[in-house]
Order: sequence, then C-alpha cells, then structure tokens
Amino acid sequence: MNVVVLVKQVPEIALIKVDEAANKVVYPEGPGVVNPQDEYAVEEGLRIKEQTGGKCMVITVGSERAESALRNCLALGVDEAYLLYDDAFTGSDQQAMAKILVAGIRKLDGFDLILAGRAAVDSDASQVPAAVAAGLDIPQAMFVKKFEALGDGQATVFRTTEDGYDVVELKLPAVVSVIKEINEPRLPSLKGKMAAKKKQITKWSAADLGVDGSEVGANSGTKNVSVAPPPPRAKGEFIEGETPDEIADKLFNKLRENQVL
Ligand SMILES: Cc1cc2nc3c(=O)[nH]c(=O)nc-3n(C[C@H](O)[C@H](O)[C@H](O)COP(=O)(O)OP(=O)(O)OC[C@H]3O[C@@H](n4cnc5c(N)ncnc54)[C@H](O)[C@@H]3O)c2cc1C
Repeated sequence: MNVVVLVKQVPEIALIKVDEAANKVVYPEGPGVVNPQDEYAVEEGLRIKEQTGGKCMVITVGSERAESALRNCLALGVDEAYLLYDDAFTGSDQQAMAKILVAGIRKLDGFDLILAGRAAVDSDASQVPAAVAAGLDIPQAMFVKKFEALGDGQATVFRTTEDGYDVVELKLPAVVSVIKEINEPRLPSLKGKMAAKKKQITKWSAADLGVDGSEVGANSGTKNVSVAPPPPRAKGEFIEGETPDEIADKLFNKLRENQVL
C-alpha cells in the first residue's frame, strides 16, 4: 500500500510567545521539530508499508526550514519526501494549506492512503486533513486509534469519540488522522540518520503545482485579526491553621462563603 503522510514542521511550543502590543505570535528561530502528533502518523505509515509492501512518503507545506523535519522522517525509513514551498504560500490559512497539499498529492505517482496527525500543536485547528479529503473528494475518518487494512481497497478504523469509539469501514484511498494511542513511534537509528542526509527531497513551487497565487497565501479566505495569551490564572490562597481540623473548618467555611457548598 502506498501511504502519504502529511507532516508539519512546528516550532518548539515552550518557546512560542504572544506579543500583545504587536498583536502577533512570536515564533522562535531555528529549524523546529516534526509536529509531535505527526510522529504517530509517520510510524503508522511505516508499519503499513512494512506489512503490505509499497512505499511511505511524507509531504509538507512549509519554508525551507521544514527540510530538517522531512530529513527526520527519512531517517526513520520513509522512502520519499516532498517540500511544497513558495513565497506565494506565505499567509495561507488552513483551507489554503489544504489546497496546496491537494495539488502536491495529485502530482504524486499514486497513493492508497493519506495519514495525518490529530492536530498541529502550534495552531491546533484540526482542519487540514478533512479539507484535504474534501479537496480530493475521498472518504475521511478523523481521530483514529487503530487502523486495519482489509485488502481489496478497504480498511477498518477505530475512531475515538467522547463516549468511546466508532468502528468505521472505509473505501480507499481515504484520509485518516490518528491519535497518539495508535502506536509507539520508533527512534531513528544512526544508520538511518546517515542515509537520510544523502536522500533527495523533492521541492515543488506554486508554478510546479499549478497553484494559483490568488487563491492562497495573503488571499486566503480568513484573516487572524487578533491574538491573545490565555488570561493569567487567579492567585491561589493558602489556608493555614494549627491542626488539620482547624484547616478543614476554615476550608469548609470558605467553600460555603463562595457558595461552592
Ligand atoms: C490567516 C492565516 C494566516 C496564516 N499564515 C501562515 C503563514 O504565513 N505561515 C505558516 O506557516 N502558517 C500560517 N498560518 C497557519 C497555517 O494556516 C496553519 O498552521 C496550517 O494550515 C495548519 O493548520 P493547523 O495548524 O490548524 O493544522 P491541523 O489541521 O490542526 O493539522 C492536522 C494535521 O494536518 C497536517 N498538516 C497541517 N498543516 C500541514 C502542513 N503545512 N503541511 C503538511 N501537513 C500539514 C498534519 O498531519 C497535522 O497533524 C496562517 C493561518 C491563518 C488563519
């Protein structure tokens, strides 16, 4: 089975800041990392390839800095990596990113399954995989914790819900986003890392993809009008006393005063 994995390079979350005065998110310098959720999608892609044959490919829309994320995937055993990069893509919202990915996926030499992470940790919208499925007009299943290939162009997935999970049969090709319960991602070997340095990464621009700049980038359908960090947490209060009973009484009265009891 030929599997395409959507991989996003993200900054290290702990280093992201919000500049409220300038109304923007300030991202740290440096190459960033593979979106942690996508590591599960890559692992699943590799396992499916190992079980069924075929190849595992990764594709990303990002800047040239995203190359390091793709090399990390190649080091794990991914066969081919694709970087979709053009100045015209800057400012693309989730739907525009999906449009670019769809153009890239259509240019590949065929695929049976597209895997993605549950969400990108930096903007957390969970829109891209569904938008890619819509763009390709193929079935989708989101938040999957187990994937079983049935053969004959079919698969069964176990899709998590708030109350449990659904078992869904899918016609392939389809788009499946996975959650971290699905597997335990492998680590790259030294040999894999060395081999990844020499592997080729295919780069496609807007012109290569036939993507019209007037539909993506700054011409996206949505605009972020403001950003804000979460409100600071209210200060905690220490309840002091000589004995546990006294502290418990004070706590009880406090809860009463605040109408919690
Ligand atoms: C108005 C606006 C302007 C923006 N401008 C920029 C910009 O200039 N530069 C920029 O980098 N971002 C920009 N963004 C953010 C960018 O659109 C999102 O980061 C991107 O679309 C992914 O969306 P998400 O993070 O919500 O992904 P989700 O939908 O939460 O991601 C789910 C999964 O989809 C896949 N996926 C998501 N994004 C990609 C990708 N790029 N490549 C491959 N797979 C992917 C991954 O498997 C991921 O785990 C902008 C967003 C808005 C709304």
